[in-house]
Amino acid sequence: SSKRKPAPIRKLEESVINRIAAGEIINRPSNALKELLENSLDAGATNISISVKDGGMKLLQIQDNGHGIRTEDLPLVCERFTTSKLKVYEDLSTIQTYGFRGEALASISHVSHLSITTKQADSECAYKANYADGKLVPAKPGGSCEPEPCAGNNGTILVAEDLFYNIPSRKSALKNSRDEYNRIFEVASRYAIHNAGVAFSCRKIGAPKTDLNTLQGATSITNIRQIFGAKIASSLVDIEHSNDHYAFQFKGLISSASHEMHKSVFLLFINHRLVDHTPIKRAVESLYTSVLPKASRPFIYLDLQIKPENVDVNVHPTKREVRFLNEDTIVAAIVDCIHKKLMSTSNSKSISLQS
Ligand code: ADP
Ligand code: MG
Repeated sequence: SSKRKPAPIRKLEESVINRIAAGEIINRPSNALKELLENSLDAGATNISISVKDGGMKLLQIQDNGHGIRTEDLPLVCERFTTSKLKVYEDLSTIQTYGFRGEALASISHVSHLSITTKQADSECAYKANYADGKLVPAKPGGSCEPEPCAGNNGTILVAEDLFYNIPSRKSALKNSRDEYNRIFEVASRYAIHNAGVAFSCRKIGAPKTDLNTLQGATSITNIRQIFGAKIASSLVDIEHSNDHYAFQFKGLISSASHEMHKSVFLLFINHRLVDHTPIKRAVESLYTSVLPKASRPFIYLDLQIKPENVDVNVHPTKREVRFLNEDTIVAAIVDCIHKKLMSTSNSKSISLQS
């Protein structure tokens, strides 16, 4: 039967390859947002506003006041593997920017209708360009592809509309716009805490108020208070540790026993990237369970910096997971530091004795 015969091997069409790759990097609106936020931060923005319609599926807009994009780069900016941040492979080990692969805008342009309006400080006007599948497209059918001069503030506005319009299976898997909005809010608020000083806002278009509104020059603790409430903020104590031999350091804010949380909250940044790291999370959670009463879950904001050479950020297309050397040593140092802190806050001592 025909089942016994191999089908011929063919090279996939470029557009199919790109759409599959894009769907791995951008798997929901909050991933797109993370990439866009990182681009705004890379561009030196001090003010970032996010506007969302329908959980980001209908529309996701980010406006920043960063350095903008050079007009002559607009035709290139959404092609795959175009970046202003990395030149040679070796740069990866010392890279200071979030981005380096030149895949985010390309990916978004493959799975949405994307427009970019950008103005450099020394330009007379802004330029607006529309993209599909990595390339410039006209704003209206039959029009010109050329970026159009227009009025605008310094910085960049990116608008992604109809996310996953061309990936029906993905689109139908993301029906719950409330859930998607919550994820967007979570990414935005965590970056706002870690990048305290940069003003962030996040709102649903048409809603009476903004859901996130941090101020320029604010501190992390002020932003935590605004986002998680005064009760949590006032229970936090700071930790700090550094280790020259293994080339890592961390600082953070952790909940002490004085406030019992019922759900754990982890804000983990490794080399300024918001990441998940199950071994750290597990180890810290089990520490809290052993030291504090049963119902107590940790609030942890950890800013971990590891020598870039020891970190691999390329293990997952969304960069959500990272691997690093000396993992056991680093996890143990974190647990030890938190443990000492919990024991030294008198509150936790008395509670742990009672329990
Ligand atoms: P990467 O961040 O890996 O370089 P991206 O696809 O995210 O790749 O972005 C491509 C390029 O577009 C960036 O290298 C940068 O030069 C430019 N860019 C993207 N977003 C912005 C922004 N908000 N402000 C200024 N430049 C931007
Ligand atoms: Mg980027």
